[in-house]
Amino acid sequence: MIKTFSIILVILGMLAIVSALRSSIALYQRDKRPSTFSFIPVMLGFVLGYLTFAAFLSMKPTTTPIEFIVSMIFFGGGIFCVMIFGVISQSMERIAFAEFQQHHNESHDPLTGLPNRRFLLRTISQQVNEFNLSEQHFALITFDINNFNNINEVFSHQKGDVLLAQFSERLKEFIDADIFLARSSGNRFTLIVNDPQDSNIPNYIESIQSYLDHPLTINEHDVNVTSTAGVSLFPEHGTSAEEVLKRSEIAMYSAKRIQAPYSIYEPSASSHFYDKTELASMLHTAVTTMDFDLYFQPVINVNNQNQMTLEVLLRWPLGDGYSVRPDEFIPIAEQTNAIKQITHWVLETTVTQLAAWRRQGITPQVQINLSVRDIEDDALETFLSSLMKKHPINPAQLTLEITETSMMQNPCKAQAVLEKIKKLGVYLSIDDFGTGFSSLSILSNMPIDEIKIDRSFVTDLLYSSNHEAIVRSTIYLAHSLECRVVAEGVETEALGQYLISIGCDKLQGYWYGRPMTLAQTDEWLQQATLTNTRVASQN
Ligand code: C2E
Ligand code: CA
Ligand code: CA
Repeated sequence: MIKTFSIILVILGMLAIVSALRSSIALYQRDKRPSTFSFIPVMLGFVLGYLTFAAFLSMKPTTTPIEFIVSMIFFGGGIFCVMIFGVISQSMERIAFAEFQQHHNESHDPLTGLPNRRFLLRTISQQVNEFNLSEQHFALITFDINNFNNINEVFSHQKGDVLLAQFSERLKEFIDADIFLARSSGNRFTLIVNDPQDSNIPNYIESIQSYLDHPLTINEHDVNVTSTAGVSLFPEHGTSAEEVLKRSEIAMYSAKRIQAPYSIYEPSASSHFYDKTELASMLHTAVTTMDFDLYFQPVINVNNQNQMTLEVLLRWPLGDGYSVRPDEFIPIAEQTNAIKQITHWVLETTVTQLAAWRRQGITPQVQINLSVRDIEDDALETFLSSLMKKHPINPAQLTLEITETSMMQNPCKAQAVLEKIKKLGVYLSIDDFGTGFSSLSILSNMPIDEIKIDRSFVTDLLYSSNHEAIVRSTIYLAHSLECRVVAEGVETEALGQYLISIGCDKLQGYWYGRPMTLAQTDEWLQQATLTNTRVASQN
């Protein structure tokens, strides 16, 4: 009886050891470390020991009390091993999970869960290194959310994050699972598309952009989000991961510059590409010598075509025939505070020029752009007032443009500063209207004379019933606030005619004239004055 019981105890202990052996094998399969492998021979040794002892007991006619106690120890040892292995396995699993999480966090963006720039570069590098064997061509498509800073400024950074997460979800929904998608930086997402020669990349981008072109929701507001894309190809456009990625970003900047929805990298674009830090240090020097030019773009007054109006647009020539567009350097100037000096220079140069034209009997109206920093500047009104005392011009020749977004950043402050400026007799206009999410109550309190409908609504007016409705209701709203309405970005005659038919007061765009140098503007003004005089004398 004691003999049978002892044998059963040893066999049970051995079964426990066998189960611990299976755990140790599984552990090694997962872990693959020599230290975990060493458990396997030890466990096998135990199993052998148990088997031998069980055989020894069964061969003996009787079992002594000592042998019975040893059997109990064998049993307890087996159970102990199973328990120890359970604990070891659990700890190892936890360590493995923590390692996985750490690895995941290092390579993924916590907000969207997408691979981050580091992971993206690693993946591109891998494809670049394997190219000799795989001959795998690929395209990088970088999407950048337009005007994202405005969204952050108007709705807060937290809400901006919500929008980024929604945007990335939309992208994930659209693209196939085998396409690598990463958040390459703040509001920028990059896709790796293999075998671009087999797919029509422009069509693909257009379909992504039209899929993304539906409002996202923040605070129950529908926010229209558009994006600009840049494409670079491997191996055509670079030899390293950094180079190909940077070139897709250069292509994206080029597209923004010409206001196209996307562009494919062209080597000539590189020499004109400077990153923000380079531009900031170059701008620092440019501001000390005020190394800028003013261009002038005609604005047509529908109801009084004799009245000449020009919008003043800033250019920063770099001396190699290339000018940096204001969209690229104004945000940098705003961050470095150089914007105040630049605005003062623009105002002074324009007013001096107006005084010079006045001496020739030419009195155009000019529209000057102010930055968000300017409408926080209490000294602006004093500066403008002393400028107009120094150069005798009619204040009504000046219209100051403030973007809707700038105005909405601090409506109370904007209202106070604008009211002071308005007392000088100048006109005020809200630029890029429709992109700044202003409310009717704020708008009706502002001392404004004019609303300029943003180009994005005007351009495709004839093809988008949505945009047509927005433009029509903006005209209605502006007129009920006794404001004039300007449509900008008019590139065809048909569009101009249509805008006139729905009540626009002023039109601006390439159809009527592109921004001109001072010499060209002089000529344009002389001719316009001549035509006006001729028409007047014929009447
Ligand atoms: P904005 O005030 O909306 O100026 C109009 C922009 O649209 C100009 O670009 C102009 O060249 C462009 N444009 C005019 N007509 C058309 C058209 O028919 N089609 C297209 N596609 N574009 C057209 P630009 O000169 O690059 O100026 C960009 C922005 O930079 C301006 O937008 C304005 O916000 C800012 N900016 C320009 N000059 C100054 C300045 O002196 N001070 C400040 N603070 N901002 C400025
Ligand atoms: Ca403007
Ligand atoms: Ca505008």
